[in-house]
Amino acid sequence: MKTFFAEQAWINGAWARDVLLQVDAAGRWCGVQADAPVAQRAGATLLSGPVLPGLVNAHSHAFQRAIAGLTERQGVAGGVDDFWSWRERMYSAALRITPEQLEAIAALLYAELLAGGYTQVCEFHYLHHGVAGAADPLQMSLALVRAAQRVGMGLTLLPTLYMRSGFGASGLREDQRRFACTPERLMRLVEGVQRQTQALDQIHIGVAIHSLRAVAPAALHEIAAFAQSGGLPVHIHIAEQTQEVQDCIAHTGQRPIEWLLQQVALDARWNLVHATHTTPDELQAVSTSGAAIVICPSTEANLGDGVFDYTGYARAGGRWSIGSDSHVTRAWSEELRLLEYSLRLTQRRRNVAAHDGSASTAAALFEGALAGGGSASGLALGAIAAGQRADFLVLDATAPALLGLPAEQTLDALVFSSPSAPCQEVFVAGRQVVRQGLVSAAAGTGASWPELARAYTQAMQALWPR
Ligand SMILES: [Zn+2]
Repeated sequence: MKTFFAEQAWINGAWARDVLLQVDAAGRWCGVQADAPVAQRAGATLLSGPVLPGLVNAHSHAFQRAIAGLTERQGVAGGVDDFWSWRERMYSAALRITPEQLEAIAALLYAELLAGGYTQVCEFHYLHHGVAGAADPLQMSLALVRAAQRVGMGLTLLPTLYMRSGFGASGLREDQRRFACTPERLMRLVEGVQRQTQALDQIHIGVAIHSLRAVAPAALHEIAAFAQSGGLPVHIHIAEQTQEVQDCIAHTGQRPIEWLLQQVALDARWNLVHATHTTPDELQAVSTSGAAIVICPSTEANLGDGVFDYTGYARAGGRWSIGSDSHVTRAWSEELRLLEYSLRLTQRRRNVAAHDGSASTAAALFEGALAGGGSASGLALGAIAAGQRADFLVLDATAPALLGLPAEQTLDALVFSSPSAPCQEVFVAGRQVVRQGLVSAAAGTGASWPELARAYTQAMQALWPR
């Protein structure tokens, strides 16, 4: 058992003082005691700053880290640059990336995400085949597993079903050949990953359905039944683009969420990614079903998707989580800030996400994201509380953004005063993976930042030769 002491820790949605924290041999919290008397602190490891639970990053496509910063110029002269033109450029990376390059890019990304306050990532993985088209899909999946293991990131791998290029299409486009999958092959891939990762810590599995446009109804039903029988989390992209909503209506007569609700019985294992274009009735129905929505504020802004109806969904009592998706940002403090600012800009008022009883806007956002993150990952994660995995962040109390502030305002400043105070130390299942703001071999992982940076640079130079 390990024992830590924190002068300030986030417990039950508020800051507690003088907290004694105990982690059992399995990496779970077994004791959390606020206002611990001085006599009980002997022998505990002193944590150097305010302590927060780690957050689940509920939506990631790791390979897209390789195009962050590379798609910020207009493409064709006079053409409209939107999600679909961005997707063309994203595919140019997707088609060429090898398993070794994917591992190097994902390892650096996961190291950044740890330093950004995420301790578990849900990897929505549809890049199954080799560069030439064929090859064993396990290779790409295991590249992501190795990347997570190298830096100590918790991983929920979501092998993804992608079968056709659009509603009514009979198959994929030539430039989507690496995504090809069938329900049967997906189930074999899930079982293959489970076999290969049985002995590894912090590796879990679920499934994903790319989108309604990418799978036929029979395949959707098959994967839903498979996930239900295995108790696996299920993720699906939905209603991100108005074009997709229009296509869905043209082919089914219903909006995407309406149609999905009619096809499968959603429950707490289901995670609907984006849900940008919805009606109040759809949001109410999602909330009633127990399913959660994964909001990806930085990617939705970067791609010009639209603004998620946070206010309507909160009114419906809906559960949600945060994903960094294409990884144009790698810190959750930025995602929460952007989510709130998009609401302020469109509603022309302040503190939109705060609600009666919440300590502050930042507290309401953070607690919301924690609540949806655990079920997105399929794990008991999201609080410093007995039985939950001991994932936690230690903020740098000497960061300029926190200087001179009352302790109760720490989370508010973390989200709304940037550059944000960095996560000085990060622990996953009670094991330290970040020291002095960086993943480090000295902290106990097998990877050092300079090695990760070197391998990443080599992969980028091979992908994007000058
Ligand atoms: Zn996505």
